[in-house]
Amino acid sequence: MAEKVKAIVIKSNDRKEKDKNILLFSLEKGKVWATLRSVKSPSAKMKTAQNAFAFGEFMLEEGKSGWVVTGFESIESFREIPENIDKYFEASAVLEVINQLEFSSGSECAKVFVLTLKTLKTICFGKAKENYSLCKFFIELFKITGSPLFTTKCSCCGNVTFDKLHINYSIGELVCSNCKNLGCEELSKVTFQALKILDYTDFDRLETLKLAEGSQLALLKILCKNFDARFSAKLKLMGILS
Ligand SMILES: [Zn+2]
Repeated sequence: MAEKVKAIVIKSNDRKEKDKNILLFSLEKGKVWATLRSVKSPSAKMKTAQNAFAFGEFMLEEGKSGWVVTGFESIESFREIPENIDKYFEASAVLEVINQLEFSSGSECAKVFVLTLKTLKTICFGKAKENYSLCKFFIELFKITGSPLFTTKCSCCGNVTFDKLHINYSIGELVCSNCKNLGCEELSKVTFQALKILDYTDFDRLETLKLAEGSQLALLKILCKNFDARFSAKLKLMGILS
């Protein structure tokens, strides 16, 4: 039985001489591997369906060894992304996160799907400064997965007047100096400010922002470490953190 899904291509691998396997992130089924047959020839009808970032409607049919793509209609190719190295690294980081993420429910998956599209669109077509969209993506992702990071009070004792803030990676929350333990890392005021501003600024307003120099990179390192702790992952963020 054929199934139509809306999906983004996360990555592709060679399979046999002419075929490719693609990892799709779909709205309907979450992540799913599918085969693109005879796609390596330049005249192949569905050749753009093997490109990372390609977003469209995929027709999937169950074959003997898994799903086979039997139709593809492009909605957005995001082809401007690979043309700009900074946008490419930032958008690739989003796909890397999706690749390592496990979803706990269909509704969580659907929300992350919408967030992913919004982030890729902002990176591709927006004018926000480097990595603002990626930081925003992490902040919203933590909200969806039930561990929001930004807070106005210590998540442990409820104190609202902190002198210093610390992030507790084992619980993924911000705590005050009295509640910190050995595994906590201090969050500078500038980094906390960047987190706060990005938390309440929508994607379509990101290009109006100007955070303190370098604060987005410091924040990104913390968000990335928090993700690794939350999801037992090991993100590399090629071109950004490595
Ligand atoms: Zn406290």
